[in-house]
Amino acid sequence: NKMIVTPLTKLLGIRIPAVQGGMQWVGLPPMVAAVSNAGGLGVLTALSQPSPDALRVAIRETRKLTSKPFGVNITLLPSINPPDYAGYARVSVEEGVKIFETAGNNPGPLIQYFKSQGCIVIHKCTTIRHAKSAEKLGVDVLSIDGFECAGHPGEDDIGGLVLLARAVKELKVPFIASGGIADARGFAAALALGAAGVNMGTRFMCTVEAPIHQNIKEKIVASTERDTIHIFRSLRNTARVYKNKVAMEVVEIERRGNAKFEDIKDLVSGARGRLVYEKGDPDLGIWSAGVTVGLINDIPTCEQLLKDLEKGVEEIVAGMNKVVVSEGSASCPV
Ligand code: NAD
Repeated sequence: NKMIVTPLTKLLGIRIPAVQGGMQWVGLPPMVAAVSNAGGLGVLTALSQPSPDALRVAIRETRKLTSKPFGVNITLLPSINPPDYAGYARVSVEEGVKIFETAGNNPGPLIQYFKSQGCIVIHKCTTIRHAKSAEKLGVDVLSIDGFECAGHPGEDDIGGLVLLARAVKELKVPFIASGGIADARGFAAALALGAAGVNMGTRFMCTVEAPIHQNIKEKIVASTERDTIHIFRSLRNTARVYKNKVAMEVVEIERRGNAKFEDIKDLVSGARGRLVYEKGDPDLGIWSAGVTVGLINDIPTCEQLLKDLEKGVEEIVAGMNKVVVSEGSASCPV
């Protein structure tokens, strides 16, 4: 069994260049440890913890579950209750976390803080412009998030194929591909586009270890790529979420025009969305999902998932090599 060795695996000390993306209410210790134990990079979602002190406990809990590297995600977006970002950052550093994923608006101070503490920063963004300014701030890796992604794709609507092809021309630091990746073909395509690895969120939600209700995993399996929708377009805080009754109601209110956040606040609150994962009813609130719901057909363990991806990528790459060397072949490589 060959390994996929990239600047990301070397920098982070992981076996397979797959990062588990920040996922509100899902990036909890059991998820993170499962991904890291399987050879990828698990990432704790800071804001899924009610306070910096709770994050401290979660970091310690994760350490008990894995001896492998893992990271902490801090996402800076509009929130109903403004979080103590600096507090989450400080306790993580105090607890010895060395890898951070930052995302969202005005990440400068956070990136500078982590770099001043000698940490590795993966910054996720949805435009080349933002990627280049993060590069200037000294980030180690960029996570280039295409329009296919779950959650916030920004407002430019550029799909992963073009965004990654632009990234490889414009960026100096290694980057990983995010959004739209859930199988070996997508993974191999990301590497072909120059990425040093991939970020996956929705795919990891649909694993045995994901700390969400079985019904929601089965709902993902049963879904097609047409089962997500954007909310918050009119507020310029676009988010791709599962297309359920609540999401349709939000979009309906937005379509009437002049909607204010207050008009939809009770429908979209994260506290309500969390109940979806707890109770297993996909219509209870808003929950993030990428278009990859259309590619996900099983609920493997993280170990099995990453092994299958690794093997699949190798086979695809080998098949492509064959096409490149064989004369006159214009057929599909695999
Ligand atoms: P929340 O209950 O504070 O807000 C729910 C949703 O409404 C979020 O998408 C938020 O961005 C949006 N929102 C809040 N205030 C807004 C405003 N004034 N204008 C426009 N949109 C507004 O969110 P939560 O579920 O408790 O999550 C806390 C934070 O984490 C939010 O900023 C959220 O966007 C972010 N988040 C992070 C991840 C991640 O992967 N790290 C995933 C999803 C959401």
